[in-house]
Amino acid sequence: MSVYNFCAGPASLPRAVLEKAQKEFLDWQGLGVNVMEISHRSSEFIALAEQSERDLRELMNISDDYAVLFMHGGGRGQFAAVPQNLHVANKQAVYINSGIWSDGAFSEAQKFTDAIEINVRDDKNGEFNCLTPELWPLPSDASYIHYCPNETIDGIEIFDTVKHSAPIVADMSSNILSREIDVNQFDLIYAGAQKNIGPSGLAIVIVKKSLLSREGTEKPSIFDYALEAKKESMYNTPPTYSWYLAAEVFKWLKAQGGVAAIEQQNIEKASLLYDFIDNSQFYKNTVARNFRSRMNVPFWLNDESLNKAFLAESKQAGLLALEGHRMVGGMRASIYNAMPIDGIKALVDFMHKFEQEHK
Ligand SMILES: *Cc1c(COP(=O)(O)O)cnc(C)c1O
Repeated sequence: MSVYNFCAGPASLPRAVLEKAQKEFLDWQGLGVNVMEISHRSSEFIALAEQSERDLRELMNISDDYAVLFMHGGGRGQFAAVPQNLHVANKQAVYINSGIWSDGAFSEAQKFTDAIEINVRDDKNGEFNCLTPELWPLPSDASYIHYCPNETIDGIEIFDTVKHSAPIVADMSSNILSREIDVNQFDLIYAGAQKNIGPSGLAIVIVKKSLLSREGTEKPSIFDYALEAKKESMYNTPPTYSWYLAAEVFKWLKAQGGVAAIEQQNIEKASLLYDFIDNSQFYKNTVARNFRSRMNVPFWLNDESLNKAFLAESKQAGLLALEGHRMVGGMRASIYNAMPIDGIKALVDFMHKFEQEHK
């Protein structure tokens, strides 16, 4: 039986990447040891690091105006690092609250800078219109504007970009590399690796070099963007095995045809699942169509008393980790880049069968 893992994070990695890692586990590049056992300053590891950055730059079309950093501490580490690096005295940082993760970023930022929050998740009319960046009531000046284009828990994705003279910071932990974006519309993009890149703990930061001269606040050296850029992400020992896996994921993505090709697959995968849910009287998703996440699909059974049975039987069928986040309940299927379309088909088949048996 095929097993499909719908975990929101840490999430499944491409099978081909895991198989390659398995093959190389005891002997990487003929060295007779694992890549995690060698010095990060060895020529072999430095070649890996440089290649991975080149591949990511190619995949996302990142210009030389940006530094690419491989850091510690996952997405939440960046919740602290962003204000520590971008704080400006006597200016406010603006946090757009579109869901649970962006609100979490705001809570952390308040420890390090003067931050205000703008709530755009009020969906009084059930239309989610306030999620449209153009309609956000942004002040004319800010140290930076932070938002989260994909709310992993709420299943909300914001496709339009924010335009403002202040630096735009985006938490792309759960949708980086899932669709084409114009990096030039952002000043800082960060992502915890565990959804679309590799193992948890690693974080990728794509930051405009012009921002590196900001003094910010006192901060731990390992969170200092300017220092990490100067040291090529090797101020201290980087998470080398995670970096290796991320590098393999980038190679895998290139072999898939890059971000444009994976975006088409992601559209197809998400449509298949949302169409099924919309056409059912048994399941529902309440997010307005224009703002539905292609990566995280929360759904609810109309009869919640069947939740336990749904989870037990789906697990039996090899469909893992469908339980919704504890803050919103219901179910959630996370369908990142590594989820093959066959996984969606298997899920829809199961949901159909479950509906027939329980309606
Ligand atoms: C998962 C996630 C995070 C937190 O990532 P960690 O690696 O657990 O720190 C932050 N933001 C978003 C949008 C996420 O999905």
